[in-house]
Order: sequence, then C-alpha cells, then structure tokens
Amino acid sequence: MRKNTVISCLYPNKCAGCGEIIDEDKMFCNYCSAFINNIDFKNFCTKCGMEKENCRCKYREFHFEGNIGLYKNEGIARKAYYSYKLGKRNYLASFFAENAVKAVKSAFVNVPFDAVCAVPTAFRSRLKHGFDHNRTIALKIAEIMKTEYIDSVLKARHFRRLQHKSTFAERLENVRGKYYTVGRISKKCVLLFDDIYTTGATLDECAKELLFAGVRKVYCVSVLMTDKRKKKEVTKNGD
Ligand SMILES: [Zn+2]
Ligand SMILES: [Zn+2]
Repeated sequence: MRKNTVISCLYPNKCAGCGEIIDEDKMFCNYCSAFINNIDFKNFCTKCGMEKENCRCKYREFHFEGNIGLYKNEGIARKAYYSYKLGKRNYLASFFAENAVKAVKSAFVNVPFDAVCAVPTAFRSRLKHGFDHNRTIALKIAEIMKTEYIDSVLKARHFRRLQHKSTFAERLENVRGKYYTVGRISKKCVLLFDDIYTTGATLDECAKELLFAGVRKVYCVSVLMTDKRKKKEVTKNGD
C-alpha cells in the first residue's frame, strides 16, 4: 500500500458541509457543493444584506452604502464557515473569497472599488487559532479584485464585550468607541469585509470610522447573515 493511500484510509477527506467522506481533491460533496455555490440575491436587500422580508433598512440608517451576505447563518454554510474560522480548514479562505467577489460584483454592479479592508478580529481568537480569519479572506478578496488591501488602518480597542446585548441599539452601544483608524485614508470606495452579520452594528461603526478618516463610500460583504428571529442562538458567535 502506498503511503498516501494509508494516510487517506486513516484520515479520509470529509465534506466541509456535512462530514461525508469524499475524494481527496474535493472540498464538498456534490449536494453541499450545489448548495454553497448557489448564491442567489434576488430575495435580498442590497442595502442591509438581509432577506427582503426581514430588511432592516426600514428601522435605521447605516453609514455604509450597502451590504451583501453570502449565506444564512445556518446549516451547511455555517458548518463550513466555522470549520474554517476555528482553523481546521484554512483552504476554505480562497473559496469564501471567490464567492464574496462574485457576490459583490453582482450586487454592486460597476462600483469602482479602490481598496479592501477587514473588520479587526479579537486578539484572543488570533492567538488561539494562530491566524486572523477576517484578514485572511479579505486579503484574498483584494488579490482577486486586483485592488489594494489597506492593512493596519482600522483598529480595535480590546475591551470586554457584553454578549447578552442583542438589539441593534444595545449592540451599537456595545461597539461604540471600540474601533478607530490610524491616519488619513484617501480612498474613494472601500469594500469592508466581516464574517458574520447580526445587527449590522459592527459594520456600521467601522464604516463610520472609515468615513471619518477620509474614505468617500463604504460597501460591505459578509459571509454569514444571522436571521433576526434566530439571533439569540448565535449571538455568542459574532455580531
Ligand atoms: Zn456534504
Ligand atoms: Zn434592507
């Protein structure tokens, strides 16, 4: 038996969405692949990123021009994203970045982005998993879009977050003052990446800081969109 065959028998390749054993060169089984590659925006609001029936623009104004999410924060997409975020499937960064670019191009047609940046992640998460899950995907997005990646301009102060806060107003209060920028950013249109959208408070606060630093317009892209009605179960995992 060849060495590779022995390894694949001991550690078979599993689908990132459902765990089914699959061929070595695949990331997903056929079923999960069809699901996760089918990003359809016609039912989504391109301003807040939520499904039209659950659009949040009616209730509040955001500092960003628009947000597009790739998937609902559940099932196959949630499982695959968390396996990446927890450091088990680093190769999925390219997969999510490619789909994010496709989503951005179809939702924000002809918007001339001149830079990409990411919402800063928690120091503890970077220490624990050995990488920055937001920056890794955002860097790849910038590479695919052939735009500049603006690093180390958007920063986070690390204070303890009150996880039980769940409405937009409460979460906005919780993130207010958390983010700041260093220096002027003379960019016309920045694409801001964050992994999980729940109320939009984090993106709103980061967009506000970018505008304050000199950026003219901010658009956002998120991997997972949390449904308001299911928010409580996933609050502890992101905002
Ligand atoms: Zn699968
Ligand atoms: Zn909306």
